[in-house]
Amino acid sequence: MSESRVEIGHEAGDVEIPTEICCNCASTDRVVPVPSELTLTRFLGLGGSEYTFRWRLPYCTGCRPSAVRKPVGKLHVGLMIGVWTFGLFLAVVGVQIALERSLFGGEDFWVSLGLGALIVCAWYGSRRPRNGQTSYYQPVRIRKLRQKFTSGEVTAIVIGFTNAQYMQRFRERNAATVRT
Ligand SMILES: [Zn+2]
Repeated sequence: MSESRVEIGHEAGDVEIPTEICCNCASTDRVVPVPSELTLTRFLGLGGSEYTFRWRLPYCTGCRPSAVRKPVGKLHVGLMIGVWTFGLFLAVVGVQIALERSLFGGEDFWVSLGLGALIVCAWYGSRRPRNGQTSYYQPVRIRKLRQKFTSGEVTAIVIGFTNAQYMQRFRERNAATVRT
């Protein structure tokens, strides 16, 4: 999935959000602003902090469900594979104990890992955008924040867009504060 990014300054205050076209498929048909939570999670050592922006982004009827589907990161996919592998491993061991025989020649862990990865990849692979849509998930994402070192005040936001047409409108609307 391709994504283009724009960095805009945040010091001037509010970000202007174009609302004429759907931010996922760029349709102009029955587009309404939908309150959306855009979150950015940052990891610092073992802890993390989450920033949430609440923007009213425009969606057509067909793309509306994507407004609440937060994009899935690699870390999350890795974690899911871990959970499945662990569960499958316990099941494989349990079955072998019940049957009193070894089924996979001692390769139980690798068989579980392979199956776990397959299941998780098949699941996320099935979550595809429909015709005309650019993303199954939220098509607008907060990718980075620049902050003042001392106060933590946000000075700029890097926003990712899966729809290039919507990104273009966003850029034009915020021309005064666009940095890149
Ligand atoms: Zn749409």
